[in-house]
Amino acid sequence: MPLNRRQLVAGALATAAATTAASGRWATTATAAGHRVKPAHGGHYFPNAAPLHPTAFLKLPPGRVTARGWLAGQLKLQLDGLCGRYEEFSHFLDFTATGWVRPELGGWEEVPYWLRGYTDLAIVTGDAKALAAVRRWFDAILTTQQSDGFFGPKALRTSLNGGPDFWPFLPLIQALRSWQEYTGDTRVIPFLSRFFRYMNAQGPGAFNTSWIALRWGDGLDSVFWLFNRTGDTFLLDLADKIHANGADWGDNLVNPHNVNIAQGFREPAQYALRSGSADDTRNTYGTYGKAMDQYGQFPGGGFAGDENARPGHGDPRQGFETCGIVEFMASHQLLTRITGDPLWADRCEELAFNSLPASLDPSGKAVHYITSANSVDLDNVPKNGRQFQNGFAMQAFLPGVDQYRCCPHNYGMGWPYFVEELWLATPDGGLAAAMYASCEVTAKVADGTEVTFTEETGYPFTDTVTLTLKAPKRLSFPLVLRVPAWCDRPEIEVNGRPVDAPAGPAFTRVDRTWADGDRVTLRFPQKTVVRTWEHNHGAVSVDRGPLTYSLRIDEEYERIGGTEQFPEYAVHATSPWNYGLVLDERKPTASLRHHTARHVKDTNPFTLDGTPLTMTAKARRIPEWTADGEHVVAPLQDGPAGSSEPVEEITLVPMGAARLRITSFPTTDPGAEPWLSDDHLWQLVPDSDGWYRIRNRHSGKVLGVDNMSTADSAHVVQFGDTGTDDHLWQLVRPS
Ligand SMILES: [Zn+2]
Repeated sequence: MPLNRRQLVAGALATAAATTAASGRWATTATAAGHRVKPAHGGHYFPNAAPLHPTAFLKLPPGRVTARGWLAGQLKLQLDGLCGRYEEFSHFLDFTATGWVRPELGGWEEVPYWLRGYTDLAIVTGDAKALAAVRRWFDAILTTQQSDGFFGPKALRTSLNGGPDFWPFLPLIQALRSWQEYTGDTRVIPFLSRFFRYMNAQGPGAFNTSWIALRWGDGLDSVFWLFNRTGDTFLLDLADKIHANGADWGDNLVNPHNVNIAQGFREPAQYALRSGSADDTRNTYGTYGKAMDQYGQFPGGGFAGDENARPGHGDPRQGFETCGIVEFMASHQLLTRITGDPLWADRCEELAFNSLPASLDPSGKAVHYITSANSVDLDNVPKNGRQFQNGFAMQAFLPGVDQYRCCPHNYGMGWPYFVEELWLATPDGGLAAAMYASCEVTAKVADGTEVTFTEETGYPFTDTVTLTLKAPKRLSFPLVLRVPAWCDRPEIEVNGRPVDAPAGPAFTRVDRTWADGDRVTLRFPQKTVVRTWEHNHGAVSVDRGPLTYSLRIDEEYERIGGTEQFPEYAVHATSPWNYGLVLDERKPTASLRHHTARHVKDTNPFTLDGTPLTMTAKARRIPEWTADGEHVVAPLQDGPAGSSEPVEEITLVPMGAARLRITSFPTTDPGAEPWLSDDHLWQLVPDSDGWYRIRNRHSGKVLGVDNMSTADSAHVVQFGDTGTDDHLWQLVRPS
């Protein structure tokens, strides 16, 4: 459980699983140079100072982008929900009982995780109560600094091999940066300078083991942030020390832990800002490709990691941790800015619109630990059949203070960071629409004059985006617009006049002298496409624009605990789910019909009742496809699946709106071989010294000898995997 999470799985990930070509919507290679934005020096918002190499875009200070529409609705749910209220009932966040406020007490990652999300939530919503609560935390934390620069829980000075454990400090430093950028608090920069001097004085042992070794990308980002504000050259030495001693993510899945990968893989591209080496950047692409090719062969933008990615466990039923979702999103945002490659923004949108809402209950008051592309029951019962790696229950929606621990404290940065990264500054004094949602941005352009773009759209549920400029005078600056990867015929107009726009993925640039009231209209026509997952048994998924569609399964919410205010829920299916799609091979989309059900509501479009969009499809049930004895959907088998069941019309809804879902569908064909039913499938599970257990897929139980008999003609039965000797078998070559 939480303790297990902290233990690293030693050794490199087994490389037995073949690396295969990505069958994802987007290749795992970089976008063509002409459609990327080239990094350049300059810009209003603390561009990289020499000798650091420049980035393609600059982050605007938090608070410059304000959410509207459904996105504001998500923030409201978060403010009234778990993140906004967590301080009231997570014992880790007890102000009077944490070492982050009273250093003689204990404390680890929970306060930093929560405060990182909550700080930016307070800022992007401007909520006075939340801002006051955040200020109280920082006022207290800032006073804990010691003369050598260390701050927070004293025990963390010696908790990693006798030296400091820097990991929990990294998210807290990110929170402090947001606070400084928003308020201009003059205490923060000297505080961080003193802390980084303390960090730089430590030996390699503080850099090269445990969580921190794998997550130094977060540290590098903060070191560069501070260097751009102070010019202190010791920070460059610290960056070199971090890179030299941290885990080697160079084109290498150095560790199988899903969150470590989601955070860690970007470190080489970040260090490229120091080294100037294109190889470092390429390594980040390579590592992303390795993770997705081996473990990301299903929709949603994540990969199989419950909790580690494991060779042979890449079925869409595997889960991706909620921490993994938000960390991967943050990585993709950072990489958009560093590389100018629009694909990273597409990948962030895929996670934001499809996986993030699905990881939260519809009221925003609970999370679960893992989200799966195929998931037909969310109960609060541990699975003993090794369907998932973790031995604790991970699927029910809970506040989960101790059961889930990291995810409910950490998820809070998802939407606020997404809001902040919708718009970026360009090094030549312009603005870029990097991702799309209803919002408003106010930022400096050209000579430093502030302008406002109002962005009106129902995106991702609609295909038109309208930008209206408010400017005090005529101003010449570039407006950079992302054309999504899935859009091959974008239409862009400025004041009603069409301008050239390339097919996505691309950043395209409109250079002109702008005037107050100018209006830019973007149309990204969405069309339905079918993705085939060749390396997951030829399963298919249905996309339209940035949204992937799942089978609509009727959901029954069973209250299993919690309080009236923060109830805990299991979610069960009350309609069938074992469908395979009936598709015309020559034109797979022919039988798919798209419907607009209603306006995009601000409250929550990511629910079965609230979704503005649906689709209908033709399907047949596959009787052999069942859930196992522990309510976990059986893995896919080769498609098409033989089925003589009648063809039915089924309803699909956006994946983010479905808490139960089938998103990777088998195809069916009455002439094909039927699937084997689950109880006919057995697995050889290697034990030690050439012995195997033989496990049944349906029951999860293993073959054993009745009553542990050693007699002739004793019966062999299935039995719980209790580890006794009568469960171990050897494969003997015929003599
Ligand atoms: Zn987590």
